[in-house]
Amino acid sequence: MRETLAQVEAWLGGAQLRQIATANPEFVMRAQEDEEFRAVLTAADLCLPDGVGLVWASRWLGKPFPERVAGSELVYHIAELCAANGASLFLLGAAEGIAAEAGQILQTRYPALHIAGTFAGSPALAENEALVAMINASEAAVLYVAYGAPAQDKWIARNKHALTHVKVGIGVGGALDFISGRAIRAPRWMQRLGLEWLHRLWREPWRWRRMLALPRFVAAVLGRSKGNSNRYTW
Ligand code: UDP
Repeated sequence: MRETLAQVEAWLGGAQLRQIATANPEFVMRAQEDEEFRAVLTAADLCLPDGVGLVWASRWLGKPFPERVAGSELVYHIAELCAANGASLFLLGAAEGIAAEAGQILQTRYPALHIAGTFAGSPALAENEALVAMINASEAAVLYVAYGAPAQDKWIARNKHALTHVKVGIGVGGALDFISGRAIRAPRWMQRLGLEWLHRLWREPWRWRRMLALPRFVAAVLGRSKGNSNRYTW
């Protein structure tokens, strides 16, 4: 988290948009089949291990990440960083009203923070141009996009050259729902045991089909470590 924030702070002074993805095993398995998503993640400036499965895999494969970097925590830290650096923040996505609510909560928490704008919108191509125009007019330096993966990450990649002021664009998944209090994070003890995904499945059981990616991910990692690396291309 510390390294991530130092990197984001450096990027705030840069000339181009830097893209951050908050990845988990579902991302990795989805990227096996979705070529566009794979290209987006490969080209991203930073892919963070948001899911504990990625931390486990990194250890198993002998290139350990120092820690999990939870997107739902990162959004607070980057907001604080924005406040300290005079960088404005735009919140895009989530259900109607959620981004505005999350913006108010962040604003109260970090009084120096400038919320450049909030808007639900949708990742549909038909809305693309209007959203880009709105974000450009806001002159936001940091953009959170909450359209879920892979739509949010594709959205940022597709627009990174059209967004004239944004220095850092991040796909934040359900983070605005967590900030607004609409969704509740797992209790600390579950987070510590690496069971946040189980809590999510319990709260949002419709995720079960997507979460089948988890056992497939484990099998792929174990298979790869046994030298069977042909099956998956990562
Ligand atoms: N969302 C949205 N428009 C869409 C699809 C999703 O605004 O067309 C929002 C949704 O309301 C939620 C977030 O995107 O706030 C997706 O959160 P989720 O936790 O499902 O992210 P994922 O696990 O897919 O990365």
